[in-house]
Amino acid sequence: MEHVAANPWASLAYLVAGVCFILALRGLSSPASSQRGNRLGMIGMTIAVVTTLVTHIPRIAPPCPTGAICENFGTPVLDTLTLVELLVAIGIGAAIGIVTARRIAMTAMPQLVAAFHSLVGLAAVLVAAAAFLNPGAFGILGDDGEILTVSRIEMGLGIAIGAITFSGSVIAFLKLNGNMGGKPILLPGRHVINLALLAGILGLIAYFTQDQSPWIFWTVTVLSFVIGFLLIVPIGGADMPVVVSMLNSYSGWAAAAMGFTLHNTAMIVTGALVGSSGAILSYIMCRAMNRSFISVIAGGFGGDSGGPAGAVATDRPWKRGSAEDAAFLMSQAEQVIIVPGYGMAVAQAQHALREMGDKLKAHGVRVKYAIHPVAGRMPGHMNVLLAEANVPYDDVFELEDINSEFAQTDVAFVIGANDVTNPAAKTDKSSPIYGMPVLDVEKAKTVLFIKRSMGGVGYAGVDNELFYRDNTMMLLADAKKMVEEIVKSLD
Ligand code: NDP
Repeated sequence: MEHVAANPWASLAYLVAGVCFILALRGLSSPASSQRGNRLGMIGMTIAVVTTLVTHIPRIAPPCPTGAICENFGTPVLDTLTLVELLVAIGIGAAIGIVTARRIAMTAMPQLVAAFHSLVGLAAVLVAAAAFLNPGAFGILGDDGEILTVSRIEMGLGIAIGAITFSGSVIAFLKLNGNMGGKPILLPGRHVINLALLAGILGLIAYFTQDQSPWIFWTVTVLSFVIGFLLIVPIGGADMPVVVSMLNSYSGWAAAAMGFTLHNTAMIVTGALVGSSGAILSYIMCRAMNRSFISVIAGGFGGDSGGPAGAVATDRPWKRGSAEDAAFLMSQAEQVIIVPGYGMAVAQAQHALREMGDKLKAHGVRVKYAIHPVAGRMPGHMNVLLAEANVPYDDVFELEDINSEFAQTDVAFVIGANDVTNPAAKTDKSSPIYGMPVLDVEKAKTVLFIKRSMGGVGYAGVDNELFYRDNTMMLLADAKKMVEEIVKSLD
């Protein structure tokens, strides 16, 4: 892209877009500034897309003859598309995006994100393949008519990262969407197979710098698809949140690799930002989950302790309560800690919950919300829902800031959360959630659990010992309905 490099306005616009992306990430670090962050991200992306279009239009419009435009702007890249065709393609993509974003349920966001990641991976594969099949159009041919060595490395890495992102994201989508079991599938000898595949891919990319035979390129592609599949299949249960953020990181690196092939600075910058922020998020989540970062990226390395899920023992005695019981207990309390989980998202109970919190405060009760780092089905899921219902940020606490308070709390009100409260994570080495820090709700004087039935389990598929404890009262109903009834009873 001699063209863009030669155009200082384009470089400046890309720089502004890059700064917008950095400020967007900064904004997204807190719920209070997240809307501003989102807006900045959108502005940055608009600048990047418009700049790319404007700087390429001379090359899009009618096929470049032998004239000055081609000479001035380098080898044509997009001359196979007319501007109209390009706008139609953008229009179709935008329409699909808008309809999907409007229709998607909040609870299906994680699988949507996984599906989007797979598209980024596929795009990287297609761009690398296009560059390999038509290197002249990408301006990557050397004087000897062969693909430049540096471009072969970029292409090899791009196709490998893209293919891993694609097949890994497809598996993550199937797991999160419930088409595949969420539990880890541990193939025998998987670490040896993965290491051999990785060594094969790297070796072939090195060989590709010497020999540009198509079989090397396509073998790297196929092996990368296979390793992406093998890396994600063994991960499951409590490690899925890390997989989502890790694939987010991979998709960033795949986009950066595409940026190198297309010589597009904005894409390199954006890809690197997404790649590194995703990697940092994965690392933070691994720490929060008490998991080794390396073991998760290496495809569940060391995760063999995750045994079969425990059976749900519905024949054990347990105590059932009503909305009136819950309202009475909470109105008499000094402090209530609310623990939201995936079930709150399913029931969309956040607005009713805020109303309940307000009513309790009016009764003189201190109300706090405790958020587990992996509650729900995506990072920050609960924070987003509570913010949507205008729950004051000051009432919302992270696990490490509130866990010690349960012991001095009268009521822990668990709404649609299960795994994140399960003490098996502390005691049962065979449990798939073993090692994950959990909210110590059982230390409260009374624990109220809202869920729909005693048979239902959480994401990890394990029973929760707390349901059968003396200080637990089960409130069996849809979360929204139950909370609305509690609100009425508080009146
Ligand atoms: P869980 O999935 O453990 O539990 C959800 C609970 O909600 C169940 O007890 C279910 O029981 C109940 N429930 C479901 N629908 C309703 C409803 N309409 N009304 C009332 N209750 C309902 O959720 P947690 O938030 O506790 O834990 C999150 C789990 O998801 C963890 O294992 C985590 O590893 C995993 N995960 C998290 C991701 C993330 O990024 N945060 C991504 C992927 C996985 P019942 O069916 O009986 O109603």
